[in-house]
Amino acid sequence: MIRHWGTWDEIRANFRWNIPARFNIAEACCDSWARDDPDRLALTHVAADGAATTWSYGQLKRASDRLAASFAARGVGPGDRVGVLLEQGPEVLITHFAAQKRGAIVLPLFSLFGPDALSFRLADSGAKLVVTDAGGLAKIDAIRADLPDLAEVYATDPASAPVRNLWDEIEAARPIPPVETGPDDPALLVYTSGTTGPPKGALHAHRVLLGHLPGIECQLERFPQPGDVGWTPADWAWIGGLMDLAMPCLYHGVPLISHRMRKFDPDRAFDLIARHKVRTLFLPPTALKLMRRASVPEAVDIRAINSGGESLGPDLLDWGREVLGAPINEIYGQTECNLVVNTMASAMEVRPGMIGQPVPGHEVAIIDADGHEVPRGETGEIAVKRPDPVMFLGYWNQPEKTAEKFIGDWLKTGDLGMMDADGYVGFVSRDDDVITSAGYRIGPSEIEHCLNGHPDVVMAAVVGVPDALRTEVVKAFVIARDGTASDTLRDALIQRVRDKVSPHVAPRALDFVDSLPLTATGKIMRRSLREG
Ligand code: ATP
Ligand code: MG
Repeated sequence: MIRHWGTWDEIRANFRWNIPARFNIAEACCDSWARDDPDRLALTHVAADGAATTWSYGQLKRASDRLAASFAARGVGPGDRVGVLLEQGPEVLITHFAAQKRGAIVLPLFSLFGPDALSFRLADSGAKLVVTDAGGLAKIDAIRADLPDLAEVYATDPASAPVRNLWDEIEAARPIPPVETGPDDPALLVYTSGTTGPPKGALHAHRVLLGHLPGIECQLERFPQPGDVGWTPADWAWIGGLMDLAMPCLYHGVPLISHRMRKFDPDRAFDLIARHKVRTLFLPPTALKLMRRASVPEAVDIRAINSGGESLGPDLLDWGREVLGAPINEIYGQTECNLVVNTMASAMEVRPGMIGQPVPGHEVAIIDADGHEVPRGETGEIAVKRPDPVMFLGYWNQPEKTAEKFIGDWLKTGDLGMMDADGYVGFVSRDDDVITSAGYRIGPSEIEHCLNGHPDVVMAAVVGVPDALRTEVVKAFVIARDGTASDTLRDALIQRVRDKVSPHVAPRALDFVDSLPLTATGKIMRRSLREG
């Protein structure tokens, strides 16, 4: 947590980690508030019809204490994996806290996952218990026979034996003291987005929450401030939704909004923001791209936004400032080691083409294949130095993959970037998205940003496709605004890249498409476009 604000350099220079000998996410985000101020508002759940239900910290503690006791009665203890297959809502928090009070490991599962995705993660992690709803139950039932480790299923909706009803369990249990945990004890198993290959389980310790705080506090502009209310449309099953917004809100006593939005709808998002006076948000770039095309209601009063997971591009930042009147601070990180580079618009100059600077408390460098730092301005791999509280403990059951992730004390992100003379970090491309064309190495982001800047472009993706002469050529896939796709627009877009970026990166081919392959986290799967 940041205690000394000032200029960006002062914030960085004065920052010290303060990791206590005992630490548990449930204690920090629920029980400590519940003891001091039990009626304090923790969560407002907004149902599909707009009806709102509130939860105080005291209520979350009562429910999670009892659910922890029920878990204990089923033999759930330290190190056991507890799956959470639920959309945003109070039950997610209650389950997280209950599992953490048992010293167990929470396995967040995206509610829209189909049977294959669920089966892979539940089997790989060896989950012992899952909490879900009626929709999830149908999927679990279909795969349960293949999951020998899965002993117990709890459901939020009425269900018949052997499935247990979550609320009945909570009411019937008698609280027991929580298991004590240290900051390095495992707390969370989050699978990566699977953008480049099969998802990997990144195991995190309780300290991962503390590791996120300085970043959030900077990106959300001296978070928390009086009157802050937080919301993210990102599912809490992803590190972004969970740790870039939901848990930091609860840690800081900032009221959190939960709402189930199966398909992101920009008008509904703005309506929710206006109605519930949401002031601080984590919005992935895909959400921002869609919101940019919607009209902003008068009552929207946003204080600060953080966004990342993909490159943002200057147009979105300008739109945020001009139309929303709020800074959009870019963040960079990955499931294994999140929030390590960011901007803080009020404290640092925002440089076009650069993400920002390393977040206080994290050491970031650009390294070569031998693990040596490359000279400033040169491209290399973005790396993060260990130890770092936000860094994962390792990949679940994959010690070789964990070992390969490091060179010396550097965690290799697999992303190419560069650092300028003032320490700003720029993102070039994912290592495997680099396009090799006529001897040039070209990153897709800059071309995509240029295309996205055209008023008739909703979303663009760029990949390299094989070419006999040039090894690869640049190919763009573009979702155009309704009714605008035409040869004229194609030519205009290619010319735009030629003029604004460089002739050598201008797409040789450009297809108009109705949709782009996205991961569940909204990232463009360039791999499937290449294979397409
Ligand atoms: P997998 O590792 O399974 O292929 P993934 O890397 O997409 O999936 P995540 O951990 O969710 O899974 O995503 C982290 C990656 O997202 C980073 O390594 C980087 O490539 C990209 N990313 C995150 N933030 C930014 C950003 N601000 N700009 C550009 N890319 C970003
Ligand atoms: Mg990755």
